[in-house]
Amino acid sequence: MVGPIWVLVDHSKGQITYVTKEMVQDANEVARSLGVQVWAVLIGGDESAEEPWDEQVGRFGADHLVRVSAIGVRFLTAEVYSIILDELSRQYEKPYLMIIANSIEGQEIGARLATRWGTGYANDCVSFSIGLKGNVEATRITHGEQLETIVAFSKGPAIISFRPGSAGIGLPTEGHRAKEYSSQIDLSSYLCEQDIQGIFPADPRKIDITEADFIVACGHGVGTQDNFLILQELADKLGAAVAGTRRANDKGWVNIERRVGLTGKTVCPQLYLAVGISGAREHVVGMDTSKAIVAINKNPRAEIFRLAHLGVIGDSREIMLALLRKLKEK
Ligand SMILES: Cc1cc2nc3c(=O)[nH]c(=O)nc-3n(C[C@H](O)[C@H](O)[C@H](O)COP(=O)(O)OP(=O)(O)OC[C@H]3O[C@@H](n4cnc5c(N)ncnc54)[C@H](O)[C@@H]3O)c2cc1C
Repeated sequence: MVGPIWVLVDHSKGQITYVTKEMVQDANEVARSLGVQVWAVLIGGDESAEEPWDEQVGRFGADHLVRVSAIGVRFLTAEVYSIILDELSRQYEKPYLMIIANSIEGQEIGARLATRWGTGYANDCVSFSIGLKGNVEATRITHGEQLETIVAFSKGPAIISFRPGSAGIGLPTEGHRAKEYSSQIDLSSYLCEQDIQGIFPADPRKIDITEADFIVACGHGVGTQDNFLILQELADKLGAAVAGTRRANDKGWVNIERRVGLTGKTVCPQLYLAVGISGAREHVVGMDTSKAIVAINKNPRAEIFRLAHLGVIGDSREIMLALLRKLKEK
């Protein structure tokens, strides 16, 4: 009998993130094949959540939720996370598989935890399953995204970090709640190596688009490089990250790192402002779960309007300039 699967909950502003939903849902599937349960570990989710945490993780398949509050530390660094997870593994049954979101911080947590647990860690995994020998196997895309590499763990706990957007999410089970526990961990006796002097908001021009709360997305209908600069200015004023379609990418206005869709990234921001985007299926699959979608397009029959919560029919340049004027007035 092996241990449960733990998922470290990635969250922002009282809500679990898209990657958490993916991780919990995939963990649930693997847990069923192993005959074990899924534990979601929530660290630092003290802010008021619109929807209870046990419901947020439960509807995607978590059986249990451990809410951890850490005392004696100012900031939750990767080091602190790894200490907490290690402490928890003494309070609850140690996991067979630990899944963490693959952010820069997530990678550091994974590596630090692997050192503490004397086990292996695979970063940037796009899927995971149980191999013929009952061991965890994780798939990574390697060699410049050309090859798939399967990492087979010879023993547990296996630790992986999971690439956001690589699984997608299926239908949640509404009304299912995880059983909640709480743990308080006192870290005042730990001599942490890291200390953070302050936390500052990320620069939207540099942020990974999968992490952005606001996105202004550029389509071919933006028309020219000059108009793209207006779009960038609009994004800067809104504190938004710029993303785009494949055609905008082909034009050289946005780079491939910022492409949204089938052959790009999957995003789920609070606001997705689609400028001059037709709404082709290959693009839409990467953004259709955005909380609010606003589309600007001169063609009233554009597909994107089927999806948009708010549609503006007109010339993208004129509308962007009008929006900028309004923002500057404010
Ligand atoms: C296998 C495959 C994978 C693909 N993967 C991706 C992917 O990952 N991401 C992706 O985005 N695409 C992808 N594509 C391409 C996709 O099919 C579309 O071609 C692409 O998304 C269209 O980009 P667009 O909306 O910018 O351009 P268009 O389809 O050319 O649309 C431009 C829109 O701008 C509007 N417009 C024009 N002028 C103005 C103006 N002055 N003001 C306002 N609106 C205006 C037009 O009405 C039109 O709706 C893929 C295609 C294939 C075959």
